[in-house]
Amino acid sequence: MNGLWESTLGTMRAKLHEETFSTWLEPIRFDGLEGRTVRLRIPNRFFADWISARYLTDLLEPLRQHAGRNDLEVSWVVDASLQDQVSSAGQVQAPSTETARGTLQSTLPPALAVPERRVTARAARAPGRELRASAELPLDGAPVARDTRVAEPAAADEAYALNPRYSFENFVVGGSNQLAYAAAVAAGSSPGRRYNPLVLYSKVGLGKTHLVNAVGHRVREDRPGARVLFLSAERFTNEFIWALQHKRIEEFRTRYRVACDVLILDDIQFLAGREQTQEEFFHTFNALYHADKQIVVTSDVDPKHIPEMTERLVSRFQWGLVADVQAPELDTRIAILQKKAEAESLHLPSEVALLIAQRAQNNVRELEGTLLRLAVLADAQRRPIDLELARTVLGGGPPQGRDARQISVEDVQRAACEFFQIGLRDLLGDRKHRNVSIPRMIAMYVCREHLDLSYPMIGARFGNKDHTTVMNAHRRIAALIGEDERIRRALESIEQKIGLA
Ligand code: ADP
Ligand code: MG
Repeated sequence: MNGLWESTLGTMRAKLHEETFSTWLEPIRFDGLEGRTVRLRIPNRFFADWISARYLTDLLEPLRQHAGRNDLEVSWVVDASLQDQVSSAGQVQAPSTETARGTLQSTLPPALAVPERRVTARAARAPGRELRASAELPLDGAPVARDTRVAEPAAADEAYALNPRYSFENFVVGGSNQLAYAAAVAAGSSPGRRYNPLVLYSKVGLGKTHLVNAVGHRVREDRPGARVLFLSAERFTNEFIWALQHKRIEEFRTRYRVACDVLILDDIQFLAGREQTQEEFFHTFNALYHADKQIVVTSDVDPKHIPEMTERLVSRFQWGLVADVQAPELDTRIAILQKKAEAESLHLPSEVALLIAQRAQNNVRELEGTLLRLAVLADAQRRPIDLELARTVLGGGPPQGRDARQISVEDVQRAACEFFQIGLRDLLGDRKHRNVSIPRMIAMYVCREHLDLSYPMIGARFGNKDHTTVMNAHRRIAALIGEDERIRRALESIEQKIGLA
């Protein structure tokens, strides 16, 4: 049955722009055909909305053709474990990493609490299986909660494939990322010479993975035969453990120490506490370094501050260049939006770009997410992306009045109760009646949008609800804003009451 999906993908690949294909089609997993329903797993809800709005007809055609029936339908199943493979574009309404961690931490015994985000995101789907996998892999300092299958070193180099969307050409340079960008260009243009190792660190969503992919592309362009290995530290860890278990360590070492010209290891904070893998990486590092091979790593904090990272590894990092990436300034944010709009063939008026850029200040992923959300809505409502639409999506104008940091969950709850004329007990309770459930969802939505709190944190403050309740609330309200004038007005009033709009 997989043949059906593969043939469909083949047709779609030929139809769509490469970037579109890798962003939207590649992450989809085919789960089989049941009757006339094709089950497809996707990383988050937003994917379904986006694909349904733009590519569904295109997708159904080859599916129907290859399956030989005209009544095929698609059903979407959200699978957060696919999140990892998604470029930022699809991450708009994804559960925050913290959410995923929340889920897993509560299902795992304390000894197996996993300190890493990605793993937990993946593990959130099938904790039972992950648990077994962890229990079988006690070799390293910290547990590895993931599917053992992926730990096997991939035979083909495709497994180390760079993301085609991440090049220097489509990276927007500004004061916040100038140094990292220049260093990355230098490392890509003369690998092993100028900045070795190159270490980039920043908070999430600021372009590290993008930049290091661009390094890889640049090396390959200049030297087509170069062996560039790009992988996450998590994967390095798992391959290492797999190799130990299967007595294939020599092969592993050849791959990373000898048969490699450029090693790009993403998110090395994953190595925290994993002594044995750190040791292995230390020797890998030395071997490559002494052979003048380029090493590039990224981390979500300054490597000096990664907990339980051996001193000798940290000091190796200082041999080269350690550069941080800051959140982009307003002008850079606008330029990024414009570039993104261009890539997606969207018409983005400058006043809308300005509004989005004023709103999404911390993170490029958020910026892109807002733009795409707007695009989906515009598409669905068959109208252009304009200021009016942007205001509805963003809920009011640029931030004014009170600083969101001064607003508490209680402020939001009080404002919602006042507006809807209901009691706090109902707002925090479990009653499902619309009269109380809509206010509750709106209040949760406001908290999530403005208070910088994770879904589990918000759930806890609303009568100890599960994070999925908050996620659903957020998603429903986000969808309703565009459709229901009353919801929009309620939101605006509540935001006004607490001084946000
Ligand atoms: P990180 O690895 O730091 O978490 P990513 O590299 O995944 O961040 O970047 C998140 C998203 O933002 C990606 O889609 C990336 O292309 C985009 N991005 C970040 N910075 C820039 C930039 N300066 N110009 C263009 N796109 C950017
Ligand atoms: Mg990254």
